[in-house]
Amino acid sequence: MSNLPQISFANSSEIESWAAETVISWGKTLVVAPHPDDESLGCGGAVALLRKFGNEVTVLTVSDGALSHPNSKKFPPERLRDLRESETIAALEILGVSADKITFLRFPDGNVPGEHSDDFAAVVTIVKDYLTEISPQTILLPWRRDPHPDHLATWQIVKAAMFERSGDYRALEYPIWLWERAENADLPREKNVKIHRLKIKEAIVQKQSAIRAHASQITGLIDDDPNGFQLSAEVLAHFDGEFEIYFEEIK
Ligand SMILES: [Zn+2]
Repeated sequence: MSNLPQISFANSSEIESWAAETVISWGKTLVVAPHPDDESLGCGGAVALLRKFGNEVTVLTVSDGALSHPNSKKFPPERLRDLRESETIAALEILGVSADKITFLRFPDGNVPGEHSDDFAAVVTIVKDYLTEISPQTILLPWRRDPHPDHLATWQIVKAAMFERSGDYRALEYPIWLWERAENADLPREKNVKIHRLKIKEAIVQKQSAIRAHASQITGLIDDDPNGFQLSAEVLAHFDGEFEIYFEEIK
């Protein structure tokens, strides 16, 4: 039930297709994920390809993911956070990224400080320092109008950190919730934003295994919270194709 009436990502002639080998030119790549699982859903294919070709990949997970099952007695917030971090580590291991390349910022799930938050400047400084330490050439971050507050806040934080550090980064923005609940205003509309689709066919099996490593989000692993969150089959279907979509603002 994709709510994208104006853009058929699969068929549009305006989309530039990228062969798998394209990722080699991305160099050292940083993946910024608002939640544990976005790295696999949005960029799992790219990460697997980057590692296959020997590119270095680091991952920054912004929120603690502890809001997915708020009423679980078996998994109170700290335990849920630990579970979601261990799922992220397992997922990224499948994609070829070792645990020492992953950083968890542990900001509160559902309340990542966006540009109107009093904490915004402090958070931007943290991410700016991280960028200084990691020095990525390419940054994969959520689409600027991906319809989820934590995804929007994450884009704002990373964008501000990139600006403050004035490094020469290539930024590629990936959609997650855009597929499911975008309004027209959320879609790419800037003339200088290009749409790319990366062919990930050879990495599909790895990507799907990585997504499944986030068992708390797709199975009944946490069974004592009737209001707990699960990625539905319908949502997951947006991420099982042979392509990943990346938006790029051309300067
Ligand atoms: Zn997310």
